[in-house]
Amino acid sequence: MGERAAQLGWAFETQAIHVGQEADPATGAVVTPISLSTTFRQHAVGQHQGYEYSRSGNPTRTALETCVAALERAGHGLSFASGLAAEDNILRLLAPGGRVLLGNDAYGGTFRLISRVHTALPWSAVDLLDVDALAADWPADTAMVWLETPTNPLLRCVDIEAVAALAHRHGALVVVDNTFATPALQQPLTLGADVVVHSATKYLGGHSDVVGGFVAVDDDSLAERLRFTQNAAGAVPAPFDCYLTLRGVKTLALRMERHCSNARAVVDLLVGHPSVERVYYPQLPDHPGHAAAAKQMNDFGGMVSFTVRGGAARAMDIVARTELFTLAESLGAVESLIEHPARMTHASAAGSPLEVPDNLIRLSVGIEHPDDLVADLEQALGGSVRTGRSGCRRVAAAERPPTGRSGP
Ligand SMILES: *Cc1c(COP(=O)(O)O)cnc(C)c1O
Repeated sequence: MGERAAQLGWAFETQAIHVGQEADPATGAVVTPISLSTTFRQHAVGQHQGYEYSRSGNPTRTALETCVAALERAGHGLSFASGLAAEDNILRLLAPGGRVLLGNDAYGGTFRLISRVHTALPWSAVDLLDVDALAADWPADTAMVWLETPTNPLLRCVDIEAVAALAHRHGALVVVDNTFATPALQQPLTLGADVVVHSATKYLGGHSDVVGGFVAVDDDSLAERLRFTQNAAGAVPAPFDCYLTLRGVKTLALRMERHCSNARAVVDLLVGHPSVERVYYPQLPDHPGHAAAAKQMNDFGGMVSFTVRGGAARAMDIVARTELFTLAESLGAVESLIEHPARMTHASAAGSPLEVPDNLIRLSVGIEHPDDLVADLEQALGGSVRTGRSGCRRVAAAERPPTGRSGP
C-alpha cells in the first residue's frame, strides 16, 4: 500500500494512520489485528498466503514495516526487538576489517556495540560536523559512516547530504540513526543516506511501553541482505510490540509538533537563566549544526540539553529536584524525563572519545502543558523548597494558548 498511498498523494499524517493498515479482509476490523499465530497453513508444500513461520514474517509486523517504510520514504522496512538489535543487523552487513566512522557524540549503546561486540570492525570517532577535515583525513578502510543527527546528548546536527556525498565518493555506506528527529521532522533517505535506523522505543512508540527497533532502506539488495539476517539471527519483535509501535506511530506527527513547541518553551526559560551555563538546542542560532538542522529538518525536536554552573554535584541535585520531569533514562515519550548523561545513559562512554561533560543535564520534553513543565524546571533550578505538583501553575484549557508549530 506504500505505492497506492503515494499514488493517492497522501500526506505524512494520513500515511501514518492508513498505510499498511487497511481494514482486515476477514472481519472488517479497522484496527490491525495482533496476529499471534506462530505458524500458517500451507495449501500444498510451499503454497501459502505470504506467511509460513512468524520469525520469518508476521502480519502485524508487516503492517508496521509497511507503514514506517512509507514514512521514511523507503522501499523496505524491517522491525526488530530493540534499537540495538536493529543496529546489530546493520553492522552484520560489513566484512571483518571494514571500518566504521562514528560521530564523536553518539548513543552510548551504539558505541558499546561497535567497540565491544563487533570487535572485528575497526572504528574511529570523528567530528562529522567538520566535513572538510573528514575529507582531508578519510581512513581508506572506511566501510560505513554511522551518524546521528541531532546527536545524543549534545544535539549537534550533521549535514546528512554533505556527509553522504563524501562517503559515497569513497564507496562507504551511510547509516543515519533517526531516533531523535523521527521521519516527521527529517527523512534521511531523501538526503542521500543508505540506511535509516531507529530505536522505536523512543518517539515511534512514544509512550514508554514498548522496546523496539526499525531499519528503513530503499536499495533492494541491501534490503535482501538485511532481511536475511533479520530471519537468520532472529531478533524480531513480538506481534504485540508491533501493534503498540504502530499505535504510537499514528499520532507521531501530532506528538512531534507538541514536543517541539514545548521544547521551545523550556529553552526560553533556560537561555539566560543564572544557574545555566550553556543550552544545547538545534534552533539556537549559535548551536553546532544549526544551519544543517534548519536546512534538513521541519522543526528542531523535543530534546534539550544544558550544562549548569556548579559542576556535577549541582547537576545531580537539579535532576533529583524536578517533580514533573521524571528522573529516568530513555526519551521520546509523552511524559517528560530528565537525566544526568555522564552517570546514566552515557556512563559506558566514560574515558572514551565519546565522554560527555559531567555538568550536563538532558531533557526529553514531553507533551504536557508547557506552563507546568517550565514551572517545574524553574523550581528545580531556583533551589527553592519543593512545592509539590499542585504548586505548579495550572491554566484552564480554554485559556491555553495554541501550541502549534512555530518553527522555521
Ligand atoms: C535508545 C537509543 C538506541 C538504542 O535503542 P534500544 O531500543 O534501547 O535498543 C539507539 N540510538 C539512539 C539514538 C537511542 O536513543
